[in-house]
Amino acid sequence: MSTSQPPVPEGPPRPERTPSSAGETPAPAAGVPSTAAGVPSQPLPADARGPAGGPRPVPVEVPRSADGHPAPPEDPASAHGSRPPASLSPSRASDFMQCPLLYRFRVIDRLPEKPSEAATRGTLVHAVLERLFDAPAAERTPPRARALIPGQWDRLLEARPELAGLFAQDEDGERLARWMSEAEALVERWFSLEDPTRLEPAERELFVETELESGLRLRGVIDRVDVAPTGEVRIVDYKTGKAPRPEYSEGALFQMKFYALVVWRLKGVVPRRLQLVYLGSGEVLTYDPVPADLERVERKLLALWDAIVRATETGDWRPRPTKLCGWCDHQARCPEFGGTPPVYPLPVVPAG
Ligand code: SF4
Repeated sequence: MSTSQPPVPEGPPRPERTPSSAGETPAPAAGVPSTAAGVPSQPLPADARGPAGGPRPVPVEVPRSADGHPAPPEDPASAHGSRPPASLSPSRASDFMQCPLLYRFRVIDRLPEKPSEAATRGTLVHAVLERLFDAPAAERTPPRARALIPGQWDRLLEARPELAGLFAQDEDGERLARWMSEAEALVERWFSLEDPTRLEPAERELFVETELESGLRLRGVIDRVDVAPTGEVRIVDYKTGKAPRPEYSEGALFQMKFYALVVWRLKGVVPRRLQLVYLGSGEVLTYDPVPADLERVERKLLALWDAIVRATETGDWRPRPTKLCGWCDHQARCPEFGGTPPVYPLPVVPAG
């Protein structure tokens, strides 16, 4: 991959959205990896592939939240028992911004959460879209993609047997059949937004990790990376939900800018385009970042990390109730709902 900076637009770029338009792939900006046939994408160099380098990990069972955020592999520093947080992923950063107590329950207490149909459907759809690129370009068709669904569901169940509980009460199989057909519809919609016969991803389900100068480690899993022969990088993320209203698109782009910052810090190249593909509503949201965007995200993450470190030391994790509490698995332990959090498992630094 070239280390030269691609040309960037003048002034602060605005997110663009492209509604579904059958068979039409959103027009790339100048220098963005083309979807034209015969323009293969290049792999990112090994040091963009995570701490150990080596071949790309392909965790078909990458768990996802209902909004489609993938969870990176377990941080080895906090894999067992309660430990102070050691790194930040887009999902956990979003958790803290949404509700510090939710972050504590997930990262420090490591309380289990029930799998949901929506999140599991997201994982399944992502696995299908990823595996479809194993086939030769001409064979990446809707029937081929549909045919992958049962096998990927079996693989998911094998990796995470607890998912079978989602349909344990579904004796006649009706709910499972409906859920499968919803997954099928999402996969099919993708073909109205992108044309996989004209794409050769450089990376799929790419685990990335970098350490900022402050020592903060950022990590995450990028759904797809396209790299043009000239080196321009496009980061693509699939969402199985609907595109947010324009006034909320900044929140949706936060995750993408996080990834862009990691790639920039790893390779010294600002990704040319960030692309969110919303399979739920059939829309594509794109954004062409400039270095100032990513510097802003870095400052925001550092401030967020300071707040997380402070809360970790003091044990002061405030609940922040919003309408998203309706989706929270931890209401029974949340003071906002009359619950009591478990005993704080980390040492508390006395206020000094
Ligand atoms: S129920 Fe709401 S306020 Fe309580 S922990 Fe969950 S998200 Fe936070």
